[in-house]
Amino acid sequence: MSGETLSNLLSEGRRFPPPAALAAEANVTAEAYERAAADGEAFWAAAADRLDWAAPWTQVRDWSDPPFARWFVGGRLNAAYNCVDRHVEAGNGERVAFHWEGEPGDTRTLTYADLKDEVSRAANALLALGVQAGDRIAIYMPMIPETVVAMLACARIGAPHTVVFGGFSADALRGRILDCDAHVVITADGGYRKGAASALKPAVDEAVAQCPDVRSVLVVRRTGQDVAWTEGRDVWWHELVAAQYAEHEPEAFDAEHPLYIMYTSGTTARPKGILHTTGGYLTQAAWSHWAVFDVKPDRDVYWTAADIGWVTGHSYIVYGPLANGVTSVLYEGTPDTPHQGRWWEIVQKYGVTILYCAPTAIRTFMKWGEEIPERFDLSSLRLLGSVGEPINPEAWVWYRQAIGGDRCPVVDTWWQTETGAQMISPLPGVSTCKPGSALRPLPGISAEVVDDAGNPVPNGSGGYLVLTQPWPSMLRTIWGDEQRYIDTYWSRFPGYYFAGDGAKKDEDGDIWLLGRVDDVMNVSGHRISTTEVESALVSHPYVAEAAVVGAADPTTGQGIVAFVILRGAGERAAATAQGDDLAKELRSHVAKEIGPIARPRQLLVVAELPKTRSGKIMRRLLRDIAENRALGDVTTLTDSTVMDAIREGLPSGA
Ligand code: ATP
Ligand code: MG
Repeated sequence: MSGETLSNLLSEGRRFPPPAALAAEANVTAEAYERAAADGEAFWAAAADRLDWAAPWTQVRDWSDPPFARWFVGGRLNAAYNCVDRHVEAGNGERVAFHWEGEPGDTRTLTYADLKDEVSRAANALLALGVQAGDRIAIYMPMIPETVVAMLACARIGAPHTVVFGGFSADALRGRILDCDAHVVITADGGYRKGAASALKPAVDEAVAQCPDVRSVLVVRRTGQDVAWTEGRDVWWHELVAAQYAEHEPEAFDAEHPLYIMYTSGTTARPKGILHTTGGYLTQAAWSHWAVFDVKPDRDVYWTAADIGWVTGHSYIVYGPLANGVTSVLYEGTPDTPHQGRWWEIVQKYGVTILYCAPTAIRTFMKWGEEIPERFDLSSLRLLGSVGEPINPEAWVWYRQAIGGDRCPVVDTWWQTETGAQMISPLPGVSTCKPGSALRPLPGISAEVVDDAGNPVPNGSGGYLVLTQPWPSMLRTIWGDEQRYIDTYWSRFPGYYFAGDGAKKDEDGDIWLLGRVDDVMNVSGHRISTTEVESALVSHPYVAEAAVVGAADPTTGQGIVAFVILRGAGERAAATAQGDDLAKELRSHVAKEIGPIARPRQLLVVAELPKTRSGKIMRRLLRDIAENRALGDVTTLTDSTVMDAIREGLPSGA
């Protein structure tokens, strides 16, 4: 990315040092941080001691056959035992593991002792269905406690799970079941979304009709809606699981035993089955959750407001928080059901202290207006986190102020399905935060920003983000496709893991993520990042959210086309009154903030943007629209009607 277009984010001058009280009690202090950076292997060996091992490892990491890594070689452990039983054995069985809140307002409380019984029963049920260690199990569920129980039951018997978003189609589900050859599917009749029961079982029936190897479908009754039933294949959870003993002796598995396969969301290409194994994954999920969120298991109420079907749900709803013995909130539904203050009502009700969510949610709340969170008592919050996309500085500041009462640090955490756990992030008791920057690699992690030739760029410049050393929770391969693993991640820059994201280092050497390399625009030979133009738009008082794409342009190569969503009702009214002048003003605003080269060729006000279930904007679909093409694969879109609405709103010729 050329120098002059980098100036916009780099000129962000606001700084937020850690609150003194938090820093004084922080899990990771400045001094520990310095020490950790010195020796990666010793650091991770100490982090692994957070877990209970049935047999010790003999080697911290084996990188003798890159890019195939092994961590904690020879060690044996059981992930479910580490997430559940050991807390009960330590006398914390009565601690709440989950405050679960159903969308219609029904609730359940599960203690660690409850969870141990449920997971043991479910493990026995899977054994009764003939599941053996190593068999894959597909999970297609709403956000209910049984989803966590099902995952842990799989882990307990060594059967890798693959959780598929409840919002995905039968086709998407079938593709994933076939790709990993799962023989058992765990699902529910349905779940609640946007105020209504939404069915899941019909999609399973449709998918499984063409998966001859699926022999059992275990069905949780959540909504009570009618379901079709295939005798001999379908089994009710409440019949099979409830009939089992609440005792199950967990077996220890090799540190490299597969824990799960997670298909990437498909923002850019055909989904890849990312394989995670047990010892290294759990070590880094647990350590990062403890350090980045500064969790105090006896006091905090932690909430990752994301779907379990996304890697964030795996590492920071299930494995990280449970390995640390923390109390969490689990919420089934959407943020605006039955009203736009639902999240804040939940924070107030359970006294949530730490909240972790995606920038897309934050920008949605900005759009709804800050008078909504203002109606609730959010004083329990002490720390906020963001994940999933670059967070625009304006959204970061809004999050800190409107939600965090201007007292909570905001940690912007960069990582991927492939990395398994957080990689680049502030530490709340150590780092002085900069809105929009993920700052530095965490202890034990080595990241760099390199140019086309793979050389580190100087401070103040941009390039490609790479990871220069293996890390414990790294993906081990793409399921069934080693060549694709090598080609996708390890070939662009030999010896380095290529993340696929653009980034830059500021004058202090801190890292700013610039979005996907595939999304970078090329205007008259200038490489311009989508993130930068979008952040410029969001810095205008009328704009809550923006997506920009480069569309083929006969004179400039690509021209920038911007889609924007307006903020709060008052701003929307004022903006509407301006009519056509608004687009002009916003385009000029970008030119002023970044430079005339970044002025969007075209700007469209829309009501919604196309997103994946994890909240990422699917720019490739907007590019299809901007270039007047038929839409590409839409199977991983949350709401497929969004694209029709955008197309209808387009002026002719767009
Ligand atoms: P696919 O690879 O199929 O497109 P995906 O990349 O959307 O799927 P994830 O693994 O959930 O699926 O997303 C990881 C990506 O999300 C990162 O590569 C990066 O582009 C973006 N991302 C995540 N967290 C941050 C963050 N804090 N700042 C900037 N970008 C982030
Ligand atoms: Mg990705």
